[in-house]
Amino acid sequence: KREQLELLSTVVAMTRDRVRMRLASNISSVKELDMALKYGAEGVGLFRTEFLYMDRKAFPTEEEQYEVYKLVAEKVGEHPVVIRTLDIGGDKHLDYFQLPEEQNPFLGYRAIRICLDQKEMFKTQLRAILRASVHGNIKMMFPMISSIEEVREAKAVLEEVKADLEQHGIPYDRGLPVGIMIEVPAAVMIADFLAEEVDFFSIGTNDLVQYALAVDRMNEQIAHLYHPYHPAVLRMIRMTVESAQAAGIGVSVCGELAGDERSLPLWLELGVSDLSMSPQSLLKVKHRMLNTTASEAREVAKQCFRNREITESEKQLTQFLDRNI
Ligand code: PEP
Ligand code: MG
Repeated sequence: KREQLELLSTVVAMTRDRVRMRLASNISSVKELDMALKYGAEGVGLFRTEFLYMDRKAFPTEEEQYEVYKLVAEKVGEHPVVIRTLDIGGDKHLDYFQLPEEQNPFLGYRAIRICLDQKEMFKTQLRAILRASVHGNIKMMFPMISSIEEVREAKAVLEEVKADLEQHGIPYDRGLPVGIMIEVPAAVMIADFLAEEVDFFSIGTNDLVQYALAVDRMNEQIAHLYHPYHPAVLRMIRMTVESAQAAGIGVSVCGELAGDERSLPLWLELGVSDLSMSPQSLLKVKHRMLNTTASEAREVAKQCFRNREITESEKQLTQFLDRNI
């Protein structure tokens, strides 16, 4: 089965009725990138840079980061590489950087909140990304955004770093696109405002589901309450996509939901054509695309957006999948 799937690595991802999608990969390391490329990923939709910071004794230097970002951009070539700035806190810790003891780490000192508080550390990463941007098709993305102010502040820091590079004659891509993750319900509710501040959105369903349903994504005891197809989540996804489309900016999905082949009808209905998923999911989702008729899938998705019960959409999408095997 795996070998049969691997034959699809070079096949173009489109439905039976020729709706094309770009399947990119989420990666945390160069090793994972190699796997993604082997399976035909059209770029990197989410580079989780925190793993560059983990399992070591001190923060990675600008040079160390630059080398990794450059290598990834060069390996990927013409396709985009979306580099997400540091997303620690929550469940991810660094041995050399003391995070406070918190009652609710996922609601606490995390991601962009840390970066805006530790500006020198943040600037080091931004410099490394900017410098690497001349070596490929790099985009930058900020995680855990929940307000306009955070975006503006992060962009202001970016402008400072750019000005400094400019002054020293260090090259970078002046048109580097800047986007944000939509993974906090507040960001969904102001997605129309946020869309005016950035070049693209990427929907992080892992955290979005956790925050929308108030269900800790790490807590096994309540794992049965973690429902990516909950009507509230589907509405949030739709709202985000519609806000991006109205503003004319790009929108992709990079949470685990994108790698669940049952979700495909949702993206076809919403007009989302960029998905990013773990390397292991790429061929499975592509296989599903090749065996799906978009016009039929859209009808199923339309019903999903009308469902009121928690498990209804998941059931219908599973049935649709089984019918098309
Ligand atoms: C997400 O929250 O959906 C996401 C893609 O980011 P992470 O899983 O790294 O939090
Ligand atoms: Mg997240």
